[in-house]
Amino acid sequence: MRYANVIVDLSADAVDRSFTYSVPDSMALCEGQQVVVPFGPRTMEGFVASIRDTCSIPPEKVRPVLRTVRDYPILLPELMHLADWMHKKYLCNLVDAMRLMIPAEMRGERVRDKTRRMVRLLLSPNEVDAFLRENARAKKQAEILRTLQKGDAEAAAFSGSALAALVDKGAVEFYDEELLRAPRIAAAPERAADPVLTHAQQRAADELTRAMSNGGDRFLLNGVTGSGKTEVYIRLIREVLAQGRTAIVLVPEIALTPQMVGWFHARFGDDAAVLHSGLSAGERYDEWRRLRFGKARVAIGARSAVFAPLENLGAIIVDEEHEHTYQSDRRPRYDAREVAWKRAEDAKAVLLLGSATPSIQTYMRAMPGVRPENRLKLLELPNRANGRPLPEVEIADMREEFARGNHSIFSATLMQAMEECFAQGRQAMLFINRRGHSSFVSCRACGYVEKCQQCDISMTYHQAENQLRCHYCGATREPPTKCPSCGSRYIKFFGAGTQRVQEEMARLFPNVRTVRMDLDTTRQKDAHARILERFRTGDAQVLIGTQMIAKGLDFPGVTLVGVIAADTTLNLPDYRSTERTFQLITQVAGRAGRADCPGRVIVQTYDPDHYALQMAAKQDFRAFYNRESAFRRASLYPPFTVIMRIVFFAKEPDAAQKAAEDAETRLNAFLDGENRRQDVVQMRALEAPIKRLRGESRWQVFLKMYFKGDLDATAAFMQSLADEPREGIRAEMEVNPANMY
Ligand code: ADP
Ligand code: ZN
Ligand code: ZN
Repeated sequence: MRYANVIVDLSADAVDRSFTYSVPDSMALCEGQQVVVPFGPRTMEGFVASIRDTCSIPPEKVRPVLRTVRDYPILLPELMHLADWMHKKYLCNLVDAMRLMIPAEMRGERVRDKTRRMVRLLLSPNEVDAFLRENARAKKQAEILRTLQKGDAEAAAFSGSALAALVDKGAVEFYDEELLRAPRIAAAPERAADPVLTHAQQRAADELTRAMSNGGDRFLLNGVTGSGKTEVYIRLIREVLAQGRTAIVLVPEIALTPQMVGWFHARFGDDAAVLHSGLSAGERYDEWRRLRFGKARVAIGARSAVFAPLENLGAIIVDEEHEHTYQSDRRPRYDAREVAWKRAEDAKAVLLLGSATPSIQTYMRAMPGVRPENRLKLLELPNRANGRPLPEVEIADMREEFARGNHSIFSATLMQAMEECFAQGRQAMLFINRRGHSSFVSCRACGYVEKCQQCDISMTYHQAENQLRCHYCGATREPPTKCPSCGSRYIKFFGAGTQRVQEEMARLFPNVRTVRMDLDTTRQKDAHARILERFRTGDAQVLIGTQMIAKGLDFPGVTLVGVIAADTTLNLPDYRSTERTFQLITQVAGRAGRADCPGRVIVQTYDPDHYALQMAAKQDFRAFYNRESAFRRASLYPPFTVIMRIVFFAKEPDAAQKAAEDAETRLNAFLDGENRRQDVVQMRALEAPIKRLRGESRWQVFLKMYFKGDLDATAAFMQSLADEPREGIRAEMEVNPANMY
């Protein structure tokens, strides 16, 4: 008798282990397969974790596996192993990790494999002739045989009774052919041949392929904007495929990188499969199967594509590695870069992180003195691939503009640069990291600010709908005509958003066509691609947008980039706001002057001397890294420390506060008991920076620790505190949270 240990597909702490079932003799079963098992009074789906010949439970108590859901393992052994690692590392249930690894549609038997019924001929040409002679009156059957002599055909094309007769006589048989739905791919740019690599690209590609053949290694590719990082990725993947291995390419968000996906399709054709949430359920499932069965060997996708069902991995590439989308904000709170690291290590593959502006944390690992197991090798592309210079960046001081009487959202410098740009028939991009018309509404007389009633967030004015909107919960309200607090009529709209910029452009340059790309204009499927297409074809001369337009775009006609308000991100209450500002400005600036005309970038700010802006203007990543890491070290912020917190949510503010204070007391006792007090930089219960969201009050227990010894025990204790059931209170535990609010 064989026994299967099965992880049931039910996420609850009480069932976070495997259950033993017997395997009927007639059932072919292997590890990673999806099965249906009895569970209490019900039946449940589950995944086979292991199969044994013995069982420690009395055999009469063991119930049998009822049936298999699919006849192949849905989870590859390497992914089962990875799920196990995630279970320990991210303190999640095993089944929660496994659920990330298969399309949701494949659970609960929601999608059917799409097939069509085909017929094939079983007779040789001589036998067909004989058959036709013997059955001279069966006209329909004869016709079917003649058709099938040219090749297999769909059963639906023929008469059912004639086919049945042929099957009875053993002349033909039915079989099911799988149909794969191919997702729509953005048009790939025309490209004749591979470009000749620059010296720096060639050196990087050589080192990567060598490492891939020699048991794998980890690299950071730090190349300035336009240095041709994509081309290095492509050459690495070529080698990977040539050696019969497979590759994963992670991008921050598929919709924002249509060009990247296009390039990969142009080079790898059907060998590339795209995994992302914009696909229909059926399409996603088909792409997954193409990868699972070796029909496609390169997986491209956002965060969760790190779980692509590929065997024999040769490389995992993480493009724009500094993007915070790689960190999941839902449980399991995994970081795709960490998972990629682990998966590449297990597969003896190459891990390649690429960015013009790596995160401080990643770059630190590429510096000398890091322990070998944490070390990244640094590869650099210091110049643009086509030999063009980086764009000139000028900083416009908006305080001076104001003093000179310019109250417009455009500085005189930017106005003049736009006039020149349009006169020459070139294109411009205008970047502002806020959608809507105005960022907040405030009373000039008393300072009252209009906030969302559900959230502690000021509301944004949207002109098209003449509405105030909360960008967190989506609540809407009529804009006030007088101050709700003091009754004054001097209620004003402050701070420009994308809508306001577009409106000003229409007023100042009535003959220039603009397109706007932000969350509001891209809600429909394919909207991103349509907007970018209008810009690419030159139908629009100006692209106005939020951070959606900051990365990855390569438009040769763009010679001018304007950053309307650099201070928007600089003033966020987060220790990473400086880093994010540097990254955003460097990335948007990198969109200018990528082809034969030099680019010009104008950054408007009220804080022109800030080092993030000064160094972004010089596109000097190394100088920024030195300055910022010194600041983090001195003020004890990550990556020099670890932040852990539990956020408590409750309708009643007092309840959230009390839960946080109780947790603080228990955490204090734990830290004293474990003798870890000296490792603590800071620990306390306090209100979260945004104290209300969606009508819930938020309190937190905030802990900052040095990296001494084992932090896992502390994290596990905090997770157990968060998981305790509390009436009317929700709790979430985070390690180095992606958002500090
Ligand atoms: P990055 O991602 O580093 O900003 P891209 O990969 O988008 O840069 O490349 C920038 C541009 O340079 C693209 O248009 C690309 O086709 C081109 N390019 C890349 N490598 C070469 C090369 N060796 N010779 C000429 N052009 C190149
Ligand atoms: Zn007022
Ligand atoms: Zn709200």
